[in-house]
Amino acid sequence: MKIKDILNKDNLNREDLEYLMGIDSNEELDILYGKAYEVKEKNVGKKVYYRGLIEFSNICVKDCSYCGIRKSNKNTDHFMMTKEEILTSAKWIYENNYGSLVLQAGERQDKEFVEFVEDVVKEIKEMSQGKLGITLSLGEQTKETYERWHEAGAHRYLLRIETSNEDLYKTLHPEDVSHDFTTRVKSLGYLKEAGYQVGTGVMIGLPGQTTKDLVDDILFYEKYNIDMIGMGPYIIHDETPMGAEFKDMVLSKEERVKLGLKMIALTRIYLKDVNIAATTALQGLDPLGREKGLKAGANILMPVTTAAEHRAKYQLYNGKPCIDDTADQCKKCLAGRVGTVGDEIAYGEWGDSPHYFNRNKK
Ligand code: SF4
Repeated sequence: MKIKDILNKDNLNREDLEYLMGIDSNEELDILYGKAYEVKEKNVGKKVYYRGLIEFSNICVKDCSYCGIRKSNKNTDHFMMTKEEILTSAKWIYENNYGSLVLQAGERQDKEFVEFVEDVVKEIKEMSQGKLGITLSLGEQTKETYERWHEAGAHRYLLRIETSNEDLYKTLHPEDVSHDFTTRVKSLGYLKEAGYQVGTGVMIGLPGQTTKDLVDDILFYEKYNIDMIGMGPYIIHDETPMGAEFKDMVLSKEERVKLGLKMIALTRIYLKDVNIAATTALQGLDPLGREKGLKAGANILMPVTTAAEHRAKYQLYNGKPCIDDTADQCKKCLAGRVGTVGDEIAYGEWGDSPHYFNRNKK
């Protein structure tokens, strides 16, 4: 069987990745996921690390065509959590021994916002006596801002490239300076220079995206020496230009989940020592999506811990799961789900990307 020959190689090439991206039978897919799980176990272990996700504001200065909280969506019920509310969520994450949190929000570069985030990061560090790991997911910023936030105590940063195909990128973003592909790539470089563990990722199953594009995405992660990957299937949001245009043209749920799992598996097999998240978007299309993601090679989960009254307002896409659940309910539910996979939850650990340390040794 050709798939077994390919998977027995130590290092795959582009042709191998393209071949594997095209497999479709359940038998072949099971072999692929099995191999990815084996590579995960060998390189990052069977531990699952949590990042408690605090989505603290849905105010955004950008207008990405696929995103439910884009600036032009007049139906967005805007909110911005206070510092005290964020600290309350952070304290819950700390006391429940999640080890790390992610602060995520729509993009803003104004002085008030930059200072607010800096202040919040410092206070979370203080409240947890330096024990909580802090990841930021706050979009494109200046190099100085990235440095300030790193200095304040954040040590990981997620900035999704969404697609490494520049032409496709243009179709996802309005054509203006603030949505430029090269700026996004440059920002990844600034993050690395500032000392962060750098995360990126893509949307999978976009209209117009080919399997060759997806293979290029994996090669992009390699080229830019990315430490953490967060990628998920594209899910439309009705109140967006892309949602309206492509309503009937996106792949079926099953196809997008399958592609999402293949991407996780191939990224694990190809890059080996990176952290890979099983994203909520996978669960948005398949109730068992996150468990399947862990079985296909992912090792990170990002349970939403945003205060219940704000959850429903942070909808980047239709049908976001768990919006009525409290953080306590999510904790119980997830522990059961991880148990079914045979992985172990690494409570209280940061779970940094081994790739970050390996790349710094070279
Ligand atoms: S994807 Fe991010 S930057 Fe783009 S509109 Fe949504 S929140 Fe803003």
